[in-house]
Amino acid sequence: KANRKFHPEDTVIDCGYGVKVGGGNFQVMAGPCSVEGRNLIEIARAVKAAGATMLRGGAYKPRTSPYAYQGMGEKGLDLLMEASAELSMPVVTEVMDPRDVQTFLDHGVHVMQIGARNAQNFTLLKEVGKTQVPVLLKRGMSETIDELLMGAEYIMSEGNPNVMLCERGIRTFETRTRNTFDVNAIPVLHHLTHLPVIADPSHSTGYTRYVRPAAYAAVAAGADGLEVEVHDNPSQAWSDGAQALTPEQFDDAMRRIALIREAV
Ligand code: PEP
Ligand code: MN
Repeated sequence: KANRKFHPEDTVIDCGYGVKVGGGNFQVMAGPCSVEGRNLIEIARAVKAAGATMLRGGAYKPRTSPYAYQGMGEKGLDLLMEASAELSMPVVTEVMDPRDVQTFLDHGVHVMQIGARNAQNFTLLKEVGKTQVPVLLKRGMSETIDELLMGAEYIMSEGNPNVMLCERGIRTFETRTRNTFDVNAIPVLHHLTHLPVIADPSHSTGYTRYVRPAAYAAVAAGADGLEVEVHDNPSQAWSDGAQALTPEQFDDAMRRIALIREAV
């Protein structure tokens, strides 16, 4: 179902509030790694002012350590939906457990993110596949492109055609960056599938100083959108502060992205 051979035209996904992704519609999803509280609305206002059209933030966090901050849960979804309504921005947020899918539907989440760690959690993929809510499916840390596409098939074969794929870096022998950004995946996925392709330069690199160059490469390579972590006070962030852009850095990135999009 994801194969371009049987569906030559690009899929365009309507994420709510008139925001469409794919087929020439480019969107930027930005916000904190984790929803932490009232600073969410401040960050959301700042990213919207800079040109982001979708708000990202995690309420359920897949942390490497069970002792690390696990997210605000439903309270976090409430804060996201509040900010979304105030700013007319669709929300992108991660669902980790098939038992939570109904809660996400009840809250009216616009885009359900499947994180890298759950990219092959087939029970979860089938559960979001039973809805019609757009899904942002991230590439697993050591998934091949074909495995990522099979994850999309799990969702689509249950009846949900609204899948966006996300390159977020893969684990390689390199240790200077958190992951290795596979920019190749963008044109390869566009060749193989009609689904929109999003790039996440934040998790792909892991360090603020490398996020903007990776974002520019993704845009030049034809990504249909970006997912970027932005925090008002990165050194105090509850998760992933080392890779967060400040609102000022994000604004700078958005200006250059607009120039690159004009040029390509
Ligand atoms: C995230 O987007 O905050 C996240 C946890 O990403 P990934 O699943 O790509 O690591
Ligand atoms: Mn993160």
